[in-house]
Amino acid sequence: MADYQAPLRDMRFVLNEVFDAPSIWASLPKIADNVDPETADAILEEAGKITGGVLAPLNREADEQGCKWNNGDVTSPEGFKEAYQTIVEGGWNGLGGNPDFGGMGMPKTLVAQFEEMMQGANMAFGLAPMLTAGACLALDAHGSQELKEKYLPNMYSGVWSGAMDLTEPHAGTDLGIIRTKAEPNDDGSFNVTGTKIFITWGEHDLAENIIHLVLAKLPDAPKGPKGISLFLVPKFMVNDDGSLGERNSFSCGSIEKKMGIKASATCVMNFDGAKGWLVGEENKGLAAMFTMMNYERLGVGIQGIGAAEASLQNAREYANDRIQSRAPTGAQQPEKAADPILVHPDVRRMLLTMKSYVEGGRTFSTYVAQWLDISKYAEDDERRQHAEGMVALLTPVAKAFLTDRGLETTIIGQQVFGGHGFIREWGQEQLVRDCRITQIYEGTNGIQAMDLMGRKVVGSQGKFYELFAQDVARFIEENSGEAALKPYLEPLAAALERLSDVTEHVINQAGDSPNAIGAAAVDYLDMFGYTALAFMWAKSVKAAAPKAEGDTSGFYTGKLKTARFYFDRLLPKTVSLAEGIRSGSESMMALAANEI
Ligand SMILES: Cc1cc2nc3c(=O)[nH]c(=O)nc-3n(C[C@H](O)[C@H](O)[C@H](O)COP(=O)(O)OP(=O)(O)OC[C@H]3O[C@@H](n4cnc5c(N)ncnc54)[C@H](O)[C@@H]3O)c2cc1C
Repeated sequence: MADYQAPLRDMRFVLNEVFDAPSIWASLPKIADNVDPETADAILEEAGKITGGVLAPLNREADEQGCKWNNGDVTSPEGFKEAYQTIVEGGWNGLGGNPDFGGMGMPKTLVAQFEEMMQGANMAFGLAPMLTAGACLALDAHGSQELKEKYLPNMYSGVWSGAMDLTEPHAGTDLGIIRTKAEPNDDGSFNVTGTKIFITWGEHDLAENIIHLVLAKLPDAPKGPKGISLFLVPKFMVNDDGSLGERNSFSCGSIEKKMGIKASATCVMNFDGAKGWLVGEENKGLAAMFTMMNYERLGVGIQGIGAAEASLQNAREYANDRIQSRAPTGAQQPEKAADPILVHPDVRRMLLTMKSYVEGGRTFSTYVAQWLDISKYAEDDERRQHAEGMVALLTPVAKAFLTDRGLETTIIGQQVFGGHGFIREWGQEQLVRDCRITQIYEGTNGIQAMDLMGRKVVGSQGKFYELFAQDVARFIEENSGEAALKPYLEPLAAALERLSDVTEHVINQAGDSPNAIGAAAVDYLDMFGYTALAFMWAKSVKAAAPKAEGDTSGFYTGKLKTARFYFDRLLPKTVSLAEGIRSGSESMMALAANEI
């Protein structure tokens, strides 16, 4: 099994050569104060050391051990406490946090690279800092000054961790029907009562306190999603001087046995009149939680790439070492009993598909992160609103497309190993098991597709879609004279036109056919994702082509050849997806329940 190595070379290429991130940072004064190219590079380097040297070596053994529940307490696998301490001491929890409360104020474009390393090295562990960072974001955006001052510094430092409590036994996708209640007290606090399930790192022994952000309903709240409020509920009360007080009245009833990410605790949380404080306005909790969820959704997409990168590293090494059969063109290593499996076209198909998704996916997540930075930090209203539209449109694509391709990449990697991929010691089966959840939590990928097609595309009558289409069209126009890009711009333009036609088709159908959006959604998101990755690969060609001549490292030439493979073998999937979408909902809805 290959030892996970943070893909620093490619991350630097994406940040500096594809997006020229330092120029974007320099254009956003609040970020420019915190980061310069040298600092960013030092952060990448150090993140690579910690994720590869501390987190990755724990991954397999922690999966074997899992978390242990005992009478409400949860013990994490061996080594996690020490690793968490390393993360705390390095200030990694607050990397993207608000400097007013102790965060480091780094741009998301950079933070996204750290997140990918952490998830690729050890996904179960990586969930803890990821949830804390998301909770901090929601608190920073919606909490009162008092709550922020009291909780954020210790959360950014990681001394306290965060958890997100939405799901209930009867309410997952449909949060409008949650039953958890919050009764107001005279002192401005609330008593929260109810049961939440599947709460990641809801209870553990890594941090001194756990800050839960809980969705609950106030008495007489309107029915449905408009009657949900958000509450901060700490495991231990926090005294005015910042010291910890008595334990709050809630506990972890049990932890789940599950398919993957076994080293993370997935908790049933029972709230029994637990003391909490309102975050944001009454009945606007879902909107406040969405701040966290949008952040987490990109984070989950990044988990997909992290697992995919680990799978690629394993499979690439194995394909060079494993010898089976001779190359169709004749023996390549006649001194050996057989040739490395890398010589076989089908093994190359697998490896290049993986490389296309991993590197294209990393470029896409950085592209989305760039819009998040601009939406958060731009001082010019128009620029900020434009970026907000992009973030709204692209977030569900990043979550679903990158996790679908992430799982696909872990499975393809397993296939490269043949039977050995099914055996525990090579690590491939764990990657498949761990990555599977990314398609399900933070809103299933089906729900992401509905969000994209229904709310973002049809809901805005194509307005958000146009922002993306214009960005691609502008790139095509600006680079029409570039010889190196010529073979790519025509198929990119054709893919964009195909996507625009289908977008218009579904918008037109949606008015007459209530099932049109649901029937088109998943294939539409896939089509969008494949087109977006083609755009990313074209951008990568633009950055790599001038440096490819005389490149003996294989890095830049490898980029150009992988782009060729992507355009030849993967982008054409959009043709069949478009066909399927145009067939409408009839064949899907024609069967009665007893015919399915
Ligand atoms: C390991 C793990 C960790 C988790 N961590 C957390 C956490 O930290 N905090 C938290 O609050 N939750 C967490 N969850 C819960 C997770 O977010 C939910 O499981 C997920 O959102 C789906 O909800 P559900 O399981 O109730 O499925 P359901 O909502 O019952 O959905 C079942 C199926 O129906 C589909 N479906 C439902 N409604 C529609 C619709 N309107 N249109 C089309 N299709 C629809 C879904 O896509 C899905 O395929 C976690 C879950 C797991 C397994």
